[in-house]
Amino acid sequence: MREIITLACTECKRRNYTTTKSKRNTPGRLELSKYCKFDRKHTVHRETR
Ligand SMILES: [Zn+2]
Repeated sequence: MREIITLACTECKRRNYTTTKSKRNTPGRLELSKYCKFDRKHTVHRETR
């Protein structure tokens, strides 16, 4: 029951990462701090469809 999601940088809006998550453990939008190579720093990346 894990589904593939896309993570988009909240600063430059680029979609940099894909990951999987469990709907059961994470019902809302997943947010992770990840390195964005376009911004060249860590930014918040948010789940997109
Ligand atoms: Zn970015």
